[in-house]
Amino acid sequence: MKTGQEDARSMASIMLRSTAMLLTLAAQLAPSANAGAKPVDGSRIANADTEPGNWLTYGRTYSEQRYSPLATINDENAHNLGLAWFADLDTNRAQEATPLVIDGTLYISTAWSLVKAYEVRTGRLIWAYDPQVRRELGVNACCDVGNRGVAAWNRKIFVGAYDGRLIALDAATGVPVWSTQTVDTGKPYTITQAPRVINGRVIIGNSGGEYGTRGYISAYDAESGKLAWRFFTVPGDPSKPFENEAMARAAKTWSGEWWKLGGGGPVWDAISYDPKLNLLYFGVGNGTQWARSARSAGKGDNLYLASIVALHADTGQYAWHYQATPGEEWDFDAVQQLVLADLRINGKVRQVLMQANKNGFFYVLDRKSGALLSAKAIVPVTWASGIDLKSGRPIENQEARYSETGKAIDVKPGPLGAHNWQPMAFNPKTGLVYIPAQQVPIRFIPLPSLPIAPIGWNLGVALASVPSPIEGFLLAWDPARQREAWRVTYKGPWNGGVVTTAGNIVAQGDAAGNFNVYRATDGEKLWSLFAQSGIIGGPSTFEAGGEQYIAVLSGWGGSFALSGGKASAVSGNLRNVSRLLVFKLGGTAVLPPLTPRPFVINPPPEPSDTASVARGEPLYVQYCSACHGEHALGGGVIPDLRASNFLGSDFFYNIVLDGALKDAGMASFKSALSRDDAAAIRNFVIHQANQTAPN
Ligand code: CA
Repeated sequence: MKTGQEDARSMASIMLRSTAMLLTLAAQLAPSANAGAKPVDGSRIANADTEPGNWLTYGRTYSEQRYSPLATINDENAHNLGLAWFADLDTNRAQEATPLVIDGTLYISTAWSLVKAYEVRTGRLIWAYDPQVRRELGVNACCDVGNRGVAAWNRKIFVGAYDGRLIALDAATGVPVWSTQTVDTGKPYTITQAPRVINGRVIIGNSGGEYGTRGYISAYDAESGKLAWRFFTVPGDPSKPFENEAMARAAKTWSGEWWKLGGGGPVWDAISYDPKLNLLYFGVGNGTQWARSARSAGKGDNLYLASIVALHADTGQYAWHYQATPGEEWDFDAVQQLVLADLRINGKVRQVLMQANKNGFFYVLDRKSGALLSAKAIVPVTWASGIDLKSGRPIENQEARYSETGKAIDVKPGPLGAHNWQPMAFNPKTGLVYIPAQQVPIRFIPLPSLPIAPIGWNLGVALASVPSPIEGFLLAWDPARQREAWRVTYKGPWNGGVVTTAGNIVAQGDAAGNFNVYRATDGEKLWSLFAQSGIIGGPSTFEAGGEQYIAVLSGWGGSFALSGGKASAVSGNLRNVSRLLVFKLGGTAVLPPLTPRPFVINPPPEPSDTASVARGEPLYVQYCSACHGEHALGGGVIPDLRASNFLGSDFFYNIVLDGALKDAGMASFKSALSRDDAAAIRNFVIHQANQTAPN
């Protein structure tokens, strides 16, 4: 639900105006400066270390280390860093992208999948593209409408649009070259993932595991947009032929009628690639529903949920898998970044793949065979006491299996994970991995049966926050010895992605709105700048005109910000100020002062119908809280419902049931809610507003 008419209308009108402006800009601006440069291809990405001035793909290289050989900015001079330039963005939701830089041009995607190209040295906007995603689809986002970045190949820029389209743009002009719909638009699929391009094919997955989808990853020809292959992550209806042997094997690990809700298993973040082995790696998310009792009759490992999977890159055929959390039911998506490296372990150099999993364990696998080499907890973990290296399976705490015990249980880490999508970085010089780590325990409350919601989350379990401190920190982890090297503690969780360099630095934005640079060897803070808004995206570093730059997006949002609502203030900042920030040594640009944001709660009187208030609470939790925050206590990203001008007006029903504000991002809930339901939600919000109003 959107609040306040003025807020929503002015937001809608800003969006309309900025859309018109962008279309004009795209048409008027001259082609970019890099039109003559050598096109990006597999050899350029595979040999990215020979051109460290560029940042050609999401994780800089196919191995996704986010380590740059550049050392002009280093631990000796980082205190001289400053803002070179910045650009205000025209969306105000989660900004999650890592900027790409190719031959002097910087490319980003923003919330709602907009794409922009800037001249690195001057900050001049070269072009802007808006895929015009229908804002009412925002309801299908478990975790905000961010986009993690674009991919580049042969003078084209690729973006996975939130509504499921994969779009190729001319890198010089931003004009679309082709567009293809990658999902069934009748189902709640979305895309937030950055595509990668391997052997001339654009690789893209999708999100939706909280709603009811069947996950898969696809490869499209970069020139034509034609589908080359697709690999599903969970089996379909077993009465029909399976797509391949991997699906037939997986089906033996499922029970019940999982395919009716799709089974889940979205591929929504990590993709890496080993050109020598020609193996492509990706992570698979949780199942629909979370509760295994609801999903798979309480039985089975449910392959390939919560797994790391390797495919032969040319055919999309299965090579191996490692399932981190068999029979997963705590939202432990295994999609976090997969870092490839050569590690010396016990005196022997091993070709490894590393992941700091949501479930709290740091995994080191042999990336040729998928064999588990080691796994250790990076934060206190309560759902398992460790990983058995022989079987590769977790040693589970049976009390954590809420769907078997039928009892509520507090679990560490919670669904936000010990590490989420915010990318970590590996520095081969220090041998350390730098992880945006956190601890946010959650109480899982099993319910006998929950109706399937036609719109909104379908978890099969209720959740509650736990009265226990929540934490966020930058963790330097020695992956060869599986132990902590140092940590920097932040105010709270949901801090930004990380980059590290040969200059012995680690750079990370934090949720409180600071951009920080540390010495890579010991975590000593070298420099910091207040950027006004929480930073969650991954930084990149590159060169132009002989100068090294570091770029990052500011813009608070994402799952913790939305569903946490006001509670996310623990991390230090509730403002979304969406910008591209570019730093260099001696930079002298200054951000404009923050404008005050008056906040007035003036709710209608406390409802007399207390039964309706009570009925509204679980409905609010099921349908509203994922975006509008736990218990309607407001947040910083989506307007605070308690301040809505419509709480006292029947126009509330036009919004909630008829989609009056769909173009501002508020979908119609007519398929899920009756007018009585909507009235109950309204009464609950009015009650909360009265309970929490400052007067
Ligand atoms: Ca999930």
